[in-house]
Amino acid sequence: MIKVVSTVDETRAQVKEWKKQGLTVGLVPTMGYLHEGHQSLIKKAVEENDKVVVSIFVNPIQFAPNEDLETYPRDLDADTKLCDSTGADLIFHPTPDEMYLDGFSTHIEMNNLTKELCGKSRPTHFGGVCTVVGKLFNIVQPNKAYFGQKDAQQLAIIKRMVRDLNFDLEIVGCPIVREPDGLAKSSRNSYLNEDERKAALILSKSIELGKELVANGERNAQTIIKAMTDKINTEPLARIDYVNVVDALNIEPVDTLNGEVLVAIAVYIGKTRLIDNFYYASEV
Ligand code: AMP
Repeated sequence: MIKVVSTVDETRAQVKEWKKQGLTVGLVPTMGYLHEGHQSLIKKAVEENDKVVVSIFVNPIQFAPNEDLETYPRDLDADTKLCDSTGADLIFHPTPDEMYLDGFSTHIEMNNLTKELCGKSRPTHFGGVCTVVGKLFNIVQPNKAYFGQKDAQQLAIIKRMVRDLNFDLEIVGCPIVREPDGLAKSSRNSYLNEDERKAALILSKSIELGKELVANGERNAQTIIKAMTDKINTEPLARIDYVNVVDALNIEPVDTLNGEVLVAIAVYIGKTRLIDNFYYASEV
């Protein structure tokens, strides 16, 4: 039976015991309200490690004051069942006070990789992500940690942070898991009403269009951006935050698809901001 703990000390004690036995530990950081996307990360972690820790923490410092911290969906019972049935061993579910002690004053900031895409519209977001993920790495000291390509900029940033700050672990990226109709799974999909849920399909449809253009040989970033933008704008409930093509490693805009690139979008459907993307790697 899976164990649920809420303190850093309990987590450390459990991990220490496992490490003493020579067992490897995988970490899956999440904000909870788990779905098959998260589950795919947990499954991979269970395959590749002796023990798996899932952290469930809606991290206040990665939300701006006007964002959805208060309304972010939470369901620890359902999350516990999903983690248990998928083979995870421990859930770390701290309170904000446990993570951010009185007088908390230290942050991890990243200068590059955070200027485009989500970093542009959410300027304080990735500092909060890096800080909490850095803390989780120090608390759990995993051999491997698992992140979804759904949040492609986050994945690139975490890989860079691990390299820059010499965290001793491997970062594993996992593919986007989608609903049967194509919508990328997200805890925030629960905000959508029936009409919005239908309208949200415009994200995956524009991603499909972008992929198709690239498959047919299009390499001009502006042409792809324009076609995807026009597609999204056919949906009256959609409002574009960004459509962009960036270098997948440095998250800097590119003119031509060459090397490994990321085509990424963020679109408001009503008040709900959703993201989607695809990677392209040219053959060398
Ligand atoms: P979140 O709970 O939204 O912070 O997500 C926790 C982790 O799950 C992140 O690494 C996400 O990229 C990953 N994730 C969320 N949705 C999906 C999805 N549809 N497919 C794959 N990974 C996902």
